[in-house]
Amino acid sequence: MYDCIVVGTGPAGATASYHLAKKGHSVLMLDKAKLPRYKPCGGGVSAVIQEWFDFDFTPAISLKSDRVYCTWEHQESIEVSMGNHPIWMVRRDVFDYFIVQQAVKQGAILKDETEVIDLDYKLDRWIVKTPDGEFHGRYLIGADGAKGVMAKLLGFGKQKKLVAGALEIEIPYQKQDNPHTYFEFGFVKHGYAWNFPKADGFSMGAGVFTSQRKAQSFHKIIEDYASQFNLTLTQATQHGHPIALWNGNQKLHTDNALLAGESACVVDPFTAEGIRPSIFSGLKASEAIHNSISRSSHALEKYSQIMAEEWGREMIWAQRLAQVFYRFPHLGYNVMTKNPKSAITMTKIFNGELSYSQVAQKALKLLMNI
Ligand SMILES: Cc1cc2nc3c(=O)[nH]c(=O)nc-3n(C[C@H](O)[C@H](O)[C@H](O)COP(=O)(O)OP(=O)(O)OC[C@H]3O[C@@H](n4cnc5c(N)ncnc54)[C@H](O)[C@@H]3O)c2cc1C
Repeated sequence: MYDCIVVGTGPAGATASYHLAKKGHSVLMLDKAKLPRYKPCGGGVSAVIQEWFDFDFTPAISLKSDRVYCTWEHQESIEVSMGNHPIWMVRRDVFDYFIVQQAVKQGAILKDETEVIDLDYKLDRWIVKTPDGEFHGRYLIGADGAKGVMAKLLGFGKQKKLVAGALEIEIPYQKQDNPHTYFEFGFVKHGYAWNFPKADGFSMGAGVFTSQRKAQSFHKIIEDYASQFNLTLTQATQHGHPIALWNGNQKLHTDNALLAGESACVVDPFTAEGIRPSIFSGLKASEAIHNSISRSSHALEKYSQIMAEEWGREMIWAQRLAQVFYRFPHLGYNVMTKNPKSAITMTKIFNGELSYSQVAQKALKLLMNI
């Protein structure tokens, strides 16, 4: 019997597995995909995540982007330097598998191409059912992403989440003179389009991040946006994927089991950043299970509390900002152009240098007063 079975090896599951294995616990990682696996994602990662690991992420970074450009219908450009905190641009197959390999080095067992189809809880253990047989674990972490089944199988019922939609298009391109990061706010109703550079191409995409849905062709928007960079979609591959945005604090623990990452709906509802919060929740889930194994009382219950206090408290502000910004996007964008500091502030939030709660009240006041 394993101390912990982790279902899903994205940033959340791989992080939890690494930290549990490092503390000497026996860990089984299950993923239905053959690893390394592709995940539709812009691949922009805050460098702050390095602080949560004792190994160097350099081999997993495609390139570092030191400048961000925002536009409204290709105009009204805002330029922000990332200073000493460039954004990491990663290929998710490389990045996620890199963390998985670190977990394996610490002794975690990996079984990919193994889909969890059902669960049972008996006496002192979780029985995890897959087409390849059953696995037994004292603890369980559901980290199976936005399309996962673990929350349902664990009996969490209706979760508080806002399901956003995004389309990502990979454009192969060898030469990268300007590894800059681009956001376009004018063409997508209730969302934005992006162009994130990689060493071997671009990840372009468009997403809607509110409950309002307007008929709009993401493909057409991205095609037009790409033409601004003299890029075509002829050799591009495209992938649609839901995003489970944070929509309120909720219980993330049950009998000897926790939810982490997007299956716990941790994604920032304003920026749609999901990698950093998924890693954060994976880290906190590993600490909770370690504490529970060490007989600390209410350790799993405390995980739900910690996620509410340390992440949810911030997300309340992110959600308020999103509600105002995506409802009146041009007004919101005007605030950014008139107050260039607000764009710098957003990059500082992404870097972990500032928190939403420190700045959001001021930002909301600016948005309300226009
Ligand atoms: C188009 C798009 C662009 C994005 N861009 C960014 C970005 O630039 N920056 C950012 O921070 N975030 C971005 N995100 C969000 C980010 O990709 C996710 O929040 C993040 O991947 C969540 O990590 P996770 O570990 O929770 O789950 P995932 O990365 O989704 O991993 C879940 C894993 O679980 C496995 N799995 C699922 N079901 C089962 C099962 N039944 N049994 C076994 N295994 C299973 C899957 O195969 C998968 O490997 C983007 C999302 C989308 C859709």
